[in-house]
Formats: sequence, C-alpha cells, structure tokens
Amino acid sequence: MISIRNYIGGALVTKSGGRIDLEEPATGQIAGSLPDSTPEDVERAVQAASKAFPEWVSIGPEGRSKWLFKLADAIETRQEAFAMAESRDSGKPLSVAHTVDIPRAISNFRYFAGAILHDASEAYVDRPSVLNYTLRQPLGVVGCISPWNLPLYLFSWKIAPALAAGNCVIGKPSEITPLTAFLLSEVCVEIGFPAGVLNILHGRGAGVGSAVVNHPEIKAISFTGGTTTGRIIARAAAETFKKVSLELGGKNPTIIFEDANLDEAVDGALRAAFSNQGQICLCGSRILVHSSVYKEVRQRLIEKTSTLAIGDPLDAATQVGSLVSKEHLAKVLGLVEQAIEEGGRVLTGGKKVSLPGRCSSGYFMEPTLIEGLGETCRTNQDEIFGPVATLIPFSDESEAIRIANSTKYGLAASVWTNDIHRAARVSETLHSGIVWVNCWMLRDLRTPFGGVNDSGMGREGGTYALRFFTEAKNVCVKTLPQ
Ligand code: NAD
Repeated sequence: MISIRNYIGGALVTKSGGRIDLEEPATGQIAGSLPDSTPEDVERAVQAASKAFPEWVSIGPEGRSKWLFKLADAIETRQEAFAMAESRDSGKPLSVAHTVDIPRAISNFRYFAGAILHDASEAYVDRPSVLNYTLRQPLGVVGCISPWNLPLYLFSWKIAPALAAGNCVIGKPSEITPLTAFLLSEVCVEIGFPAGVLNILHGRGAGVGSAVVNHPEIKAISFTGGTTTGRIIARAAAETFKKVSLELGGKNPTIIFEDANLDEAVDGALRAAFSNQGQICLCGSRILVHSSVYKEVRQRLIEKTSTLAIGDPLDAATQVGSLVSKEHLAKVLGLVEQAIEEGGRVLTGGKKVSLPGRCSSGYFMEPTLIEGLGETCRTNQDEIFGPVATLIPFSDESEAIRIANSTKYGLAASVWTNDIHRAARVSETLHSGIVWVNCWMLRDLRTPFGGVNDSGMGREGGTYALRFFTEAKNVCVKTLPQ
C-alpha cells in the first residue's frame, strides 16, 4: 500500500487527519492513500515558499537552470518507476507512459531550464536621450493545479516555467492521480532541491485546491482542468486580483477533405480520437469528413477502431487501457446512451469491457464511433473526454468550417488536405487556439498552447509561460541632459 505524503518546506510530511483512498483503475483495487489536505497545510506551504523566495530569486537564471536540469536528470534515472506509477495510477498503457508522459515531463524541465538562460526583455531607445527597458520579475508564490489525464506531463508543464522564472510554487496535482507528483517530491528530497521552493499538496479540489486559489499571498494560478472548475477558479481569483491562466476542455474537430492522403488522415483521426482512451483535452472527438470520401473513411475507421487492442495497461501489446475511474466510465457509457437517444447509430464499440484475471474489476470500455447526429445535439456539443467520437459528413469547405466552429469550445483542430491554400484558409477561419495540418499533437514546446472561448484563457508554452509567471516593470531612464 502506497502512503502518499505532502512535500512542504523540503520535507515529506506525514499528516494526521483525513485520507483519501487511491485506486488502481485497471484493477479496481485500492492501491494506497493520500492526504486530504486542508487550508492549514496551504498556510504552512505558503510560509515555506515565501521564506525560500528571496534566495531562489538571488541565485539567478543560471542557478535555477542548474536545479531544473538536475531534477530532469534525476527523473530520467528513475524513468521506469515513474512510468509504472503513471500507468497504474491512471490506467493508461505502460508503453504510453514510457514513451510519452514521462519523457515529455523530463523535456518540460529541460526545456525551461534552457529557455530561462536565453530569455530577454524589451528595450526601447527614444532619441539618444531616453532609454526604456522592461524588467521581468517573478511574482512570488504561485499555485499550479493540474488534472488526472496526463498527470506528471501537465504538472511539470506548469511548475517548470514557474520555477525557472524565479517563483516558488504550491503544486496541487489531481487527487485521482497523485502518484508521480509524489515520486517527484521524493526525487526533490533525494537531490536536496532547495527547501520551500517547490511544495506539493495533495487532496481534493474543493478543499485544498480552493484554499490555494483563495490564499491572498499566492499571486497567480495556473490551472488545467474542466471548464466548470475553471469558471469557479476565475471567479474566486478575481477577489484577490490574481493572474490566472486557464487551460480547459475541448470538443475538437478533425476535418478530412476529399484531397487528403486518406491513409494518413484515417490513422491521424484514429490517434486523435482514442489516444489515452480519448482522455486528452486535444482529442479529436468530432470527425468531419467530405461526403465524397465519407463511406470509405467510415469503413476504414470502423475496421481500425474495432481492432484496437484493449487490455491490461501493463501488457506491451495493449493499445487501449482503462478509463481513469468507475465514475468516469459510468459517465462516458451514459453519454453513449444519450447519443443513441439523440438518434445516433453506434458503428462500433459503445460497451463496457470485462477482462479476465488481474483486470477483471477494471474500468475498460470499447472505443466507440457514432454517426447520424446533427451538429447541434449534446453529443456533438459537450466534451465527453472518453473513447467516443462522432462521424459527421460535410459537402464543402464552408460547411466544414461552420460545423467545426459550432461549439462553445475552441482548443484544437486538425485539418487533413493536400491543398496548401485550403489548409491556410481553413486554419485562419477556425475558432481554435491550435490548428494541426496533416498531423495531430505534434508539439514544439516553444509554441503558444491554449484555447479560446470555453477552452480557456491565456497561453502556456515557451516565452508565453515565462511571461505569465513574471510581472513586467518598465524603467525609463533619461540618459543625457537635454
Ligand atoms: P477538474 O477540473 O475536475 O480538476 C482539475 C484539478 O482541479 C484537480 O487537481 C482538482 O482537484 C482541482 N480542482 C477541482 N475543483 C477545484 C476548485 N474548486 N478549486 C481549485 N481546484 C480545484 O478536471 P479533471 O477531471 O481532473 O480533468 C479533466 C478536464 O481537464 C477535461 O475537461 C479536460 O479537457 C481538461 N484538460 C484540459 C487541458 C488543456 O490543456 N486545455 C489539458 C488536460 C485536461
């Protein structure tokens, strides 16, 4: 049984009081427990962070960069343990944790360790006598709150730029998948990471998460999670005028035009729909296909979807692992029922899967394709966040754009075409923070990442994240007498 502890002021703290059970979703078994932290724990962490802040700032970008590289190296030497923990905690295939989640978390630390050394701010010379230059100063203590779908990957995506920019962090990972954040805190203790610079508190959103958002000394909140939670956080943060970055839900279109390379488009649409059991904010859950190739694409997608290997996440052959929890599985199955009530036809999948042996009580379901639904029905409007995608035919470019833009979200889109002019035209017209052309989830850490409308506000990535975690101060100097 794993007993997760908070990491406060450089030490792993055993807390008396409430605990939350930790479940392995692939087996349905209790694997351990985590602290149900309270506002008092937040207070202790904020005090430790405030105490550590002056020294962390004073070691400068070079000093902070060295620590972040050290952290990345230490995670890398324990990569197997991190990948195993991520897979068991979330139900994702071990192969995915091993090739995507953990390497990306390491890259996040390395990327910002390097980026901070090359960060520059503006200077303006106005005639020879006036120089304006902009300081980019860290905010102080900041809060980073992350979800369960890509646990260490998204947690590190926030804390790495926050730390690099000179802030001290109160991190709050999801209570559903806290394990790799706990391993990270163990690594911090082992390498002697400066005490109080990073603090990790475990527990429920409405308890410890809310206390982080409301704390007056926490200057900014970087949040990734659901749109409903984002709204609550934005409201609460307004009380203390905190900076807020919100990365929220999505209902992303995959648009396949008639001139696309259909082999690549079908594989791309499949990956976009079902990677991580469809539990990625960027997943393409609405597959829009030109009517002239609809039948062919539909047939190929059905064949490929129905042969995806569902199995024990620890089995190397598994392509589809378990959903993250019993409640989430019930929710997604309920949404398939809703789609049928709305007139949808299930082309493949739609059912809970019972596996033999170790995973007999796990939360597995078949990857599901549905067609026959109008663009305005709930199934095509609301985020499902599971292995369910709809197929929607369109007759021309303007109809594709209209359908793609018809939801309240605007996170990501992927466009499949061999016509470069069409690709540019469509990319410009989509209401979306990210557009992939002939690819999906191809990431460059320097690029802006985030969405519009109900998908959030602000951008992460590269200098966007470093700007968020700093405050600009302009200094105007009269350099010569008039
Ligand atoms: P969630 O909103 O339930 O929880 C996210 C985090 O917020 C957790 O750590 C939770 O404990 C905390 N939290 C919950 N209520 C809180 C409150 N009142 N105050 C402070 N913290 C609170 O989301 P989830 O179910 O963990 O994740 C799934 C959602 O995340 C999906 O909607 C998905 O689209 C979204 N997501 C978005 C992105 C992106 O980059 N846009 C990436 C991944 C996931």
